[in-house]
Amino acid sequence: MKQADLILTNAHVLTMDEQMRQFPQGAVAVQGQSILAVGPADDIIREFTAPVLIDCAGKVVMPGLINAHTHVPMTLLRGLADDLRLDVWLLGYMMPVEREFVSPDFVRLGTQIACAEMIRSGVTTFADMYYFEEDVARATAEAGMRALCAQTVLKFPTPDAQYFEESLSMARDFITRWKGHPLIIPSVAPHAPYTCTEEILRSTAALAAEFDVPLHTHLAETAQEVENMRREQGMPVIPYVKKQGLFEAKVLAAHCVHVDEGELRTMLHAGAGVAHNPSSNLKLASGIAPVSRMLAVGLNVGIGTDGPASNNDLDMFEEIRLAAFLAKGSTSDPTAVPAPQALLMATRLGAQAMHIGHLTGSLEPGKRADLIVVNIFPLHNAPRFLRDENSAYAQLVYAAKSTDVTDVMVNGRWLMRDRALLTLNEAELIQAGQDYARRIDTFLIQREQSILSKLVAIGGAMEEESFEIQAKVPLERIEPILESLQKPLIHILRKRHYHEYDTYFFFPQE
Ligand SMILES: [Zn+2]
Repeated sequence: MKQADLILTNAHVLTMDEQMRQFPQGAVAVQGQSILAVGPADDIIREFTAPVLIDCAGKVVMPGLINAHTHVPMTLLRGLADDLRLDVWLLGYMMPVEREFVSPDFVRLGTQIACAEMIRSGVTTFADMYYFEEDVARATAEAGMRALCAQTVLKFPTPDAQYFEESLSMARDFITRWKGHPLIIPSVAPHAPYTCTEEILRSTAALAAEFDVPLHTHLAETAQEVENMRREQGMPVIPYVKKQGLFEAKVLAAHCVHVDEGELRTMLHAGAGVAHNPSSNLKLASGIAPVSRMLAVGLNVGIGTDGPASNNDLDMFEEIRLAAFLAKGSTSDPTAVPAPQALLMATRLGAQAMHIGHLTGSLEPGKRADLIVVNIFPLHNAPRFLRDENSAYAQLVYAAKSTDVTDVMVNGRWLMRDRALLTLNEAELIQAGQDYARRIDTFLIQREQSILSKLVAIGGAMEEESFEIQAKVPLERIEPILESLQKPLIHILRKRHYHEYDTYFFFPQE
């Protein structure tokens, strides 16, 4: 008899491995952080002995779900502003509130709330992108979850950096300190091609390649982004980022809503992974990603919730079902993305898209013990048919709810048993989140008392700063201007030459 630490038996085991093996009367043996064996219960019980034997009473045991793209601290901005134009939502609400409130404390609390919500709904691993990412990593590791944590870099000032060089060096320090951690995969995130300069894209890709860590970004999310790219660069998004050397790194690209067949092949050859975010793409009216085509060309496509301000929850069961339904509806083909494939996207393919397929995503000996137990016997999932061998997948994708997850294990450690969280205090987190909501409410109510303060908030300036009036005209030649500046009437106080990125709003006359 071989020794294990724990055996889960009398379970319907879905391995989600290459052969999609399942064991209707199955068992899983765990030792330390890893899976020791998976197979028919009789074989496992005969071969292994363990001090802890858990009878799963016929429930499903499967790999933990993988949320392949999110911004976890944004749980604290959930429900802050909805049903708005993307630019108004982002530049008028999200970014000003982030500038005012996002701190290591904010990020830590938001991450803890997200971890509690995700553990409750069967998520064991997620891919994040935010500011103060080291604090996201610390809170996640304490909660016991696995995550790819990517420090954001962009060309605007951010809550954690005045200039991009600063966030880039934060990313380097973070990666240096956390590489090799048992739960955290440190990473860098050039936010998106339209919020980054060519220099940022190049330097973040070089950093990720130097440390052999993944690079997390948003690509081709909206039609507008692609249109602008074509106008300014004469090519769509994927060839542009390829030209900037982005694919020198192991890329995890969120969205990819507006990409053509050639671009999908470019991504495939570059070994890039995709995170499909069905709820976010619908809520922000970005469009529907060509997921069936992506899967057909062989891309690793995971499923993500995106941030909780554009979803507004982190429920992967909802995302999986929506991913299957959207693929069917958008192709007029009810056989598109069947249940086993939808679940595969939320497990093994998601892990592969995040470039951590060797660690997690399926139940196989040697992989980390990241698994969940799901009750498939509630009323909303009854009765149960056995004729079709794929019926368990259909039960999970089309009828199961996140609240049917009863137990969650990550890296061999229980994070939830019988629906009770073991590493986080839910009541305390709800109260602390509510305190932030009150402060943010007060900030926005004050801001909205005058148009000036609203504009100041949108612009990110302080009211004490001076305002300037600019007149902009296209110039044929610069020389006459330079000459006129030499005249004795003009007194130059200070000389400065800098690049500036402005945001302009165009509103239709109403
Ligand atoms: Zn996102």
